[in-house]
Amino acid sequence: MTVSARGRIRLWAGLVFATACSSGRTSAPSTTPVPAEGSAATEAPAAPTSAGGIPAAYRLEAPEWWAHAIAQGTRTTTGAPGPNYWQQYASYKLEAELNPVLKRLTGRGRVVYYNRSPDSLPVVYVQAYQNLFREEAKRNQQTPKLGGIDFDRVMAEGKILSSVAKPTEPGYTVTGTIMELRLPKALAPHDSLVMEFDWQFRVPSETAPREGQDGEVWFIAYWYPQLAVYDDVNGWQIDQYLGRGEFYMGYADYDVKLTVPTGWLLDATGTLENATQVFTPQTLARLDSARTGTTIVHVVTEKDKADSVATTKGADGKLTWHWTARNVRDFVWGTSPRYLWDAARAVTDSAKGKITSSSLVAAFYRPEAVRSYWDEAARYGRHSVEFFSKKLWPYPYPHMTAVDGPEGCGGMEYPMLTCIGGTYDSLSLYEVVTHEIGHMWFPMMVGSDEKRYGWQDEGFTQYDQSQAMADFFKGFDDEARNRDYYLRGAQAGYEEEMMKPADRYGNDQSYGIAAYWKPATVLVALREALGRETFEKAFREYGRRWLGKHPTPWDFWNTFDNVTGQDLSWFWKEWFFETWKLDLALDTVQIEGDSAAIVMENRGKAIMPVPLAITREGGGVERVMVPVSVWFGGEKRYTLKVAAKPAITKVEIDPEHGYPDSNRGDEIWSRGRAASSVTPTSKR
Ligand SMILES: [Zn+2]
Repeated sequence: MTVSARGRIRLWAGLVFATACSSGRTSAPSTTPVPAEGSAATEAPAAPTSAGGIPAAYRLEAPEWWAHAIAQGTRTTTGAPGPNYWQQYASYKLEAELNPVLKRLTGRGRVVYYNRSPDSLPVVYVQAYQNLFREEAKRNQQTPKLGGIDFDRVMAEGKILSSVAKPTEPGYTVTGTIMELRLPKALAPHDSLVMEFDWQFRVPSETAPREGQDGEVWFIAYWYPQLAVYDDVNGWQIDQYLGRGEFYMGYADYDVKLTVPTGWLLDATGTLENATQVFTPQTLARLDSARTGTTIVHVVTEKDKADSVATTKGADGKLTWHWTARNVRDFVWGTSPRYLWDAARAVTDSAKGKITSSSLVAAFYRPEAVRSYWDEAARYGRHSVEFFSKKLWPYPYPHMTAVDGPEGCGGMEYPMLTCIGGTYDSLSLYEVVTHEIGHMWFPMMVGSDEKRYGWQDEGFTQYDQSQAMADFFKGFDDEARNRDYYLRGAQAGYEEEMMKPADRYGNDQSYGIAAYWKPATVLVALREALGRETFEKAFREYGRRWLGKHPTPWDFWNTFDNVTGQDLSWFWKEWFFETWKLDLALDTVQIEGDSAAIVMENRGKAIMPVPLAITREGGGVERVMVPVSVWFGGEKRYTLKVAAKPAITKVEIDPEHGYPDSNRGDEIWSRGRAASSVTPTSKR
């Protein structure tokens, strides 16, 4: 999901500013730092350290479930999935019809659930997300209070389950947004279960989060009974859907038939199986040219709408669209009688100048959405898919479509589709398009638990968004924006630790900091500390290892430690579990004989290796990385000795401004002017 520019202003409206390892081995310094004689480094009493040299205060404590997963061999200390790693699977065969007059969706489906766990399951859980809109629902966001899902038929293994059966007997119970199915017979390990459902619900209005209808466009999500995730670390994830906290979804195959009025365009997760039945030859030909050419093709224009030549006539005023998708986390669709359709080819992989894979990038939007630059959306989407395919790994799906949705969507990601509501300028529309497309990598392909660890998809995506924006808007510094939001929010007292379930934050500001801006910011800091190449290698390797799987934060951290060959637990602990501040400062530079003593201070609680740029007479700049271990003993001051000649004219800490320093302004020493230890009057 995106916190849009407007959303940010809303989030911050109440604030004063109301605007919008072995850690000794960081990247090789060009000057080898040595602890100076008589410096605080040697005077301070050493804090207790672990065998690896990481002090207790900075050590990561693994939870019990982690130790259990290691013992079971489902996870490993290297961060790769273990030899006994397993995850559940499902296969959905669904049919649904949308009645726009009654605003009702009726659906039925057959779901096969494959139990690949070593456990016998007497009950299974199914999501009933639409119950967020029941009058009496518990919620932590404002939503429409009209709706909820009604199950007309529930079956398991050919037997009808009743909602009024005794709790000790086979049957089902819906509690809030979770449905419990008590099975006629426990589902054995490596066996499968067939369930059938008939259901209906009122499609919520445009004030619903992430989905809904505004009378013109219909974005249908959370619309079928979806299995809850049962995993090797926490068993069933059956936390209620309250509005703020997002999702944890299993991988599955889908075969879906959707019936909507004739003349409506529809796009969905997956591949359209009956294109020749729903599209006219003209639409098919234009799609073909979009797939094979290099230009953006107007597949359906305003004139085509007026002439009713985009789709076939169907029967009884209805048209049924048949879709399939494999190995995806969810299935959603968007439909409207008003959509225009732009499409283009995105190159997702190439070798020796030849395109080896591509995908169809598209935009569905209403004619008046050009005021929000929607006629640029296909181009924005193409850049995003191509950029992330290069930066991370190739986009694997047949299409990616940005859908102009009801206002409440804000920006919301689904496999191959993103629902975007609201008004935008060109920068913010690119931002939301690239953010949601970034989510195809995290969490669509790398399927983390967003409810427990919001940063594991939002923070990573916020980071990736910044990379795409810098590429598209040549040099646009979105990282500085994230850092600014984080530091301002923290200063205003909204910071809570990142390792907290999304629904347990005190307010949306705290969640915004912990899930988006702080994680995106600390990834940049880590990149500065490790070097870009090492950082990106570890980041990609994490994705590669957990593609189509369910990584926990420990899998991410261990992969980084493993790939970089460093114990980075000090970093994970201080940024992910604590709300410590970083405040590095230069005190002074003193000439002592033929060496210069650069005295730096750690005025905060967080520790980091210290990147230094030392400028000498003649203009030469030397880069030094002081290892983080100089702070392991609780030191507040550290002195680095370097050669005095040629004379030093300037020393700067963190010259790339990649660190979230809470008090920027005391990082520079220049000759003839003492380093400022005065609080700066204005913050960056
Ligand atoms: Zn997001």
